[in-house]
Amino acid sequence: MTEKTDGSRAKSADNDRTMMARCIALSAAAIEQGELPFAGLVCRGDKVIAQATNEVVQGGDITRHAELVAISKAQKVLGQKELAGCTLYSNIEPCAMCAFAARETRIERVVFSIRSPMMGGLSKWNVLRDSELSSAMPEVFGPVPEVIGGFMREDAEKIWESWHPLIWAAIKRRGYLDGEDADPALEHLHAIPERHSLIRKIFALHRHGPSLLRKFRL
Ligand SMILES: [Zn+2]
Repeated sequence: MTEKTDGSRAKSADNDRTMMARCIALSAAAIEQGELPFAGLVCRGDKVIAQATNEVVQGGDITRHAELVAISKAQKVLGQKELAGCTLYSNIEPCAMCAFAARETRIERVVFSIRSPMMGGLSKWNVLRDSELSSAMPEVFGPVPEVIGGFMREDAEKIWESWHPLIWAAIKRRGYLDGEDADPALEHLHAIPERHSLIRKIFALHRHGPSLLRKFRL
């Protein structure tokens, strides 16, 4: 991991605030569509590649979580399944299903607002930070991404509270979604660099093999 200067760190934090504000605004728009206030963005630096709200109600499909829809759109926009160098923003900690998909895309960073102690792909099941996934199967799973949790949590909570104050109070009381008691040490987890793997190189060669062979007229 390259050492960031104070300037680039501040710029990155500013960009995270801009993108998360957009994600939180989008979670409010989800309510207008009859969905729960979930939203996700896939960005590369200050460029939004794709954004989505939940489409579970509209599609009658429980796999249409905002993060999965945003990931799917981003792959189509970029014309590739890998999202290395991209950040996934979510107003709620990605669930285990979305976290698993994110790891398969080799996403570089995940930034979320409200923790999800019952369903989260970090708080409940350590999918986002499971280093064994990438060390054992580096050809399938990306290196452990940087994760920033609890980011702009109070802003994100205001949308849920405005959606339904009583239900939001019950959700918090039952501990479905929360974050007030989160350990500050777990708010920012740095990426774990990928180990050079022979098998990943072989897979990469296999993927790019035909074009390389054509290039060198072999
Ligand atoms: Zn999910």
